[in-house]
Amino acid sequence: MDIIKAIKEAGVVGAGGAGFPTHIKFNTSIETFIVNAIECEPLLETDKFLIREHATALIEIIEKLKMHLNASRAVIGIKDKNTKEIEALKGAIKKQDASVEIKVIANYYPAGDEHLLVQEICGKSIPPTGIPLDVGVVVSNVATLLDVKNALEQKPVISRTITVTGAVKEPTLIEVPIGTSISECLNLAGGVTTTNYTVLLGGPLMGHECTKERVETSYVTKTLGGIVVVESDSYLITMKRLPMHHIIRRTESACIQCQMCTDLCPRYLNGHPLYPHKVMRALGMHERNLEAMISALICCECGVCELYACPMGLSPKTVNQFIKKELLAQGIRFEKTENLKYEPHEMMPYRKIHTDRMVARTGLQKYAGIHLNEVRLYKPSVVTIALKQHIGVLSKPIVKSGDFVAVGSLIARNEEGTLGANIHASISGKVTVGLENIVIEAVDQMEVLDG
Ligand code: SF4
Ligand code: SF4
Repeated sequence: MDIIKAIKEAGVVGAGGAGFPTHIKFNTSIETFIVNAIECEPLLETDKFLIREHATALIEIIEKLKMHLNASRAVIGIKDKNTKEIEALKGAIKKQDASVEIKVIANYYPAGDEHLLVQEICGKSIPPTGIPLDVGVVVSNVATLLDVKNALEQKPVISRTITVTGAVKEPTLIEVPIGTSISECLNLAGGVTTTNYTVLLGGPLMGHECTKERVETSYVTKTLGGIVVVESDSYLITMKRLPMHHIIRRTESACIQCQMCTDLCPRYLNGHPLYPHKVMRALGMHERNLEAMISALICCECGVCELYACPMGLSPKTVNQFIKKELLAQGIRFEKTENLKYEPHEMMPYRKIHTDRMVARTGLQKYAGIHLNEVRLYKPSVVTIALKQHIGVLSKPIVKSGDFVAVGSLIARNEEGTLGANIHASISGKVTVGLENIVIEAVDQMEVLDG
């Protein structure tokens, strides 16, 4: 089967990010194919495990995709601390005599940001609001590539390998069907060790907050690689929950315009016209500075300014998020300037923040240093599969309530001509179709065959 068709059929989406449909991303020709093996978020062990377990398969699929993309280079970006994984990849490259390069990158945050990774490997700045394709590059992460490999064997995306860590009894790696509840995932790690907790889905620094009350009704999606539990009164959660009126007051009274937020901002250092201190000045001093405000639109929300740089404990990232929402609601966009070259700041190499320092600053040290080598497999009796786990429109159910489905069968389709992805049954069972998800309750296998 044609590669793109197979990827589309299998419902592959970017597993490490917002879930961009992979059949669209790979339907192109490029200069450089980059594999993002950085695992940017601290505490996560998922990609490292996948690399060690599947190094041979990864190199095989990278070679195949390099050819498909007509790329002259295929480069794996990986952190220098991951020596075992580097060895595994080197061994697989040698064994297959593959033309895949490894670029070893310092252990800094956020090295996995696509813009920084492309700069590290190709020496090019992607324009603000741009994508790697703008500079002839496609970037894909490890879990996505393994999904592509499965897709070529007609196996759809139905499960995820996930790190469950932080304030849990036994931090662990789990492999669970898509649609497993987050509370079941926490139980697989022995349960939570504190009563007042919040879960960060995706990772501690850029992950989405899921409150204790919502863990029963939040579910594993195709883009989830990490579940991190932290205390609700931790620095991370306190910063996330500051009300905006409070943030504005603090900015008015405490922003000393030291520019540290700008000086350490990775996107500013990559040459983008992003100056968080000017946004903070405009907010705090009630300046009418639309240009500064619009620059908030090109913030990647990495949190370096807020969680690390600001000596006054202020919240430039949250301010950017707030302004972004307001501007987008008014239909204001960041205007791209055609043919403008963006050059990295000369201080960029010296202003990289070591991940360990970021971990220490954000109070995550007590959960760091755990290496996970085994994965627990689990099959729940019920799954709730979201119809939108990707960028684009909701997938259209092709089953109806009361139907019986077998694991791996197509249950919702990406309609022709729309952006989205197919969705498959992650367990066998009886279906209930909702507006935004499909619930499958496991039943006896014979019943499924008879149904
Ligand atoms: S680092 Fe903090 S105090 Fe300094 S300019 Fe930025 S927001 Fe203001
Ligand atoms: S969150 Fe802060 S440091 Fe990160 S890109 Fe935005 S302004 Fe820059």
